[in-house]
Amino acid sequence: MGKEFWKWAYLVLVILWFLIRMPYKKESFSIKTKVKKRVILESFLESLNYISMLFLPIFVVFSTKLDFATINLYQVVRWIALIVYFLNLGFFIWCHKSLGKNWSSGLEIREKHKLVQYGPYKKVRHPMYTHFWILIIFQGLILDNWIVLIYGILVWGILYFLRVKKEEEMMIEEFGKEYEEYMKRTGRLVPKF
Ligand code: SAH
Repeated sequence: MGKEFWKWAYLVLVILWFLIRMPYKKESFSIKTKVKKRVILESFLESLNYISMLFLPIFVVFSTKLDFATINLYQVVRWIALIVYFLNLGFFIWCHKSLGKNWSSGLEIREKHKLVQYGPYKKVRHPMYTHFWILIIFQGLILDNWIVLIYGILVWGILYFLRVKKEEEMMIEEFGKEYEEYMKRTGRLVPKF
């Protein structure tokens, strides 16, 4: 497959991602917030994350300036990455559907917030973050570009570690023993064995 194929395939996938998120984002504006927590440098890190999840890949699609960072992966690796990215979109839908009105883009407790423990949340506490790890890694492989890959992993990695700790503290403050019990039964990103 030629260069153009991979670029357009990626573009279609990233558009699908935004289409999946859109209705949830819209709905989230109409739900009242009870508690809001801030992670240090949150807005700054989130802007950097937007660069790695959107602007940098789009730049690679439409410009040849980052072609020097091509990894030269085997086609089969890029096909696998494409399939994984696509399946990961299905997983993303499953996470959003399960979290429902409890989802927010920042760290928030909503009015009538319920602790979700079914669907992907049955065995994993942060399946949506698992989704982001997969997305960040596999987009770099689809685009075959080490700048997209390394930058994405670094920025998301920092954001993830700062955020997940704060999020769990917030959930313990809100749900107390129920969340502590839930933590014992679940893994952070992958099921506990
Ligand atoms: N960390 C989760 C959710 C990300 S969205 C994941 O990776 O899937 C962030 C918001 O989801 C947080 O503000 C928190 O209020 C909410 N949240 C996280 N885990 C939850 C759960 N098990 N039940 C309900 N809400 C949850």
